Amino acid sequence: MPPDIEPRPYPPDTLGMSAEEMRRLGHAVVDLVVDRHARRHQEPAVLNAALVDLVQQLGGPVPQAGGDIDDAIRLLTEVALAHQQHGDHPRYFARVPGPSSFAAVLGDWLATGFNAIAASWAGGSGPSAVELIVVDWLRQLLGFPAGAEGVLVSGGSLANLTAIAAARAACGPGIAYLTDQAHSCIARDLRSLGFPEEAIRIIPSDDAFRMRIADAAALVQADRAAGGRPMLLIATAGTTNTGAVDPLSELADFCVENGLWFHIDGAYGAPAALTEPGRRLLSGIERADSLVVDPHKWLFQPYDIGCVLVRRPGALERAFTMNPEYLRDVQSSDTGEVDFRNRGLELTRRSRAIKLWLTFRAYGVQRMAAAIARGIELAEIAEQCIREQPATWELVTPAQLGIVTFARRGAAKSVHDAAAQSLTDSGFATVTSTMLKSRSVLRLCTINPLTTPDDLRETLRRLA
Ligand SMILES: *Cc1c(COP(=O)(O)O)cnc(C)c1O
Repeated sequence: MPPDIEPRPYPPDTLGMSAEEMRRLGHAVVDLVVDRHARRHQEPAVLNAALVDLVQQLGGPVPQAGGDIDDAIRLLTEVALAHQQHGDHPRYFARVPGPSSFAAVLGDWLATGFNAIAASWAGGSGPSAVELIVVDWLRQLLGFPAGAEGVLVSGGSLANLTAIAAARAACGPGIAYLTDQAHSCIARDLRSLGFPEEAIRIIPSDDAFRMRIADAAALVQADRAAGGRPMLLIATAGTTNTGAVDPLSELADFCVENGLWFHIDGAYGAPAALTEPGRRLLSGIERADSLVVDPHKWLFQPYDIGCVLVRRPGALERAFTMNPEYLRDVQSSDTGEVDFRNRGLELTRRSRAIKLWLTFRAYGVQRMAAAIARGIELAEIAEQCIREQPATWELVTPAQLGIVTFARRGAAKSVHDAAAQSLTDSGFATVTSTMLKSRSVLRLCTINPLTTPDDLRETLRRLA
């Protein structure tokens, strides 16, 4: 440095916090998070409290004057952040766990700290390039052809909505087909996009909770005969209930023959395609016109991040392009640069790609795939434990993509509910008590690679 230029002191933050204070607090937050990672298996898997109690500790009048930030951080961690489902707890088996990894957390912190934006190329070429790169990595891993495009959104619900909007922009209005095992967000997405009730056909699934092609074909034919316009078929690659996979290859053929847009909701199950057994189960996933995957489930990301991939180049832009006068100066050119605001409903949008990019770079696909394979295997271990106790348990659906469902012999729903509730209340673990059609079952979702076989055995013992 030339001797005549004095090093400048670090400036304070926008609202006057000194650099020394920022550094001290930043390090304290890192310690809190790392300590929590180390201790999370000792936390309750789920902890909740009543609103009055939470408001009593966290609420109060609008803070006119600032106060002690150390106290405020302590209150946040001990009260607000302590009371939730800990989706990354090794005995969190309910719904879909969120086994987030630390590299992803670091990526999210960096994106937030640098206020990363991926709305337009002119406004954020770096984050936009990272998004193009990670979306393309996902495209390759899921076997989509070169030229397929995508965008990151908050999660599966919005990703499915984005895909359905692209399908309708490409094909025009028409009828959508899905099974009774499709995630409940799909029907809501269709309704909120203006599909009338009579254009939402829900097909009863077969005994293995999969779509029966013959039933889909009969409905499509009947709708056509009645003057309707079949447009979109929605399959699931790994249902949330049982991990069932619709017959993807056959459905792809059926959609080609019938001129239907083929959408696959792989929000939960698609990452299994990174593993050997998953690739076999998910064969045909690469033939979808659009595909959804939720990295905040089985790709080890903190909430939120969902991805939609669309086979036809330009299909997202045709549904979502918005180039008003006041954005003319931030419009991309013809060199492959993308304005992500034109691929979905968000204009100002955070960079969700940074955390996924850092995860891929830090661990590599091989380690991520091994962790996914472990999740598949853990459900098989749970199935084995269930089979070993036929006097207590009945297997309802076998281990599929990290999910197994079972029932206590002769038990009514109230018994399953009570067993699941008391396990959750104990803090040891949490499982789902759900209905498969009219049958009450308990369900384990085992996608956290930190889960041990002993965790599974002890959870089953306590449920019994
Ligand atoms: C979780 C899930 C969704 C919804 O995703 P969110 O990220 O919760 O919005 C959609 N489909 C399937 C199959 C899911 O498992």
